[in-house]
Amino acid sequence: MSDCLFCRIVRGEIPCRKVYEDDDMLAFHDINPVAPVHFMLIPKLHLDSLSVAGSGHAALLGKMLLLAPVLAKEQGLNNGFRTVINTGKGGGQEVFHLHIHIIGGGNIPPMVRRE
Ligand code: 5GP
Ligand code: ZN
Repeated sequence: MSDCLFCRIVRGEIPCRKVYEDDDMLAFHDINPVAPVHFMLIPKLHLDSLSVAGSGHAALLGKMLLLAPVLAKEQGLNNGFRTVINTGKGGGQEVFHLHIHIIGGGNIPPMVRRE
């Protein structure tokens, strides 16, 4: 059994503020939000990151992308939202269980600051 943080949240061993759950997916609010709405959508299946996803995960990844706008709207983000997938150390990933950040509300700054 994986002791990955998000796997433990999936198993209910660590509490979360749940946004959505079905057989394959879980969405929950980020513990340290960067905007008024900030939640994560994760597959229940443990994948370290997008880097290890293969063609066998195409349906799962498609389901995640199609679910994101539905959940964003349910959370009141009627005017749009940002999706972020950090991949690997070079992408700033801290929790190595694939997740999509869904962020919105308030002022969303440019994604990358240009000097
Ligand atoms: P990453 O940097 O890997 O893309 O994002 C990891 C995210 O997980 C961070 O935004 C962080 O705030 C969030 N996080 C870390 N630990 C927990 C936790 O125990 N519960 C919840 N809900 N979010 C967490
Ligand atoms: Zn995991």
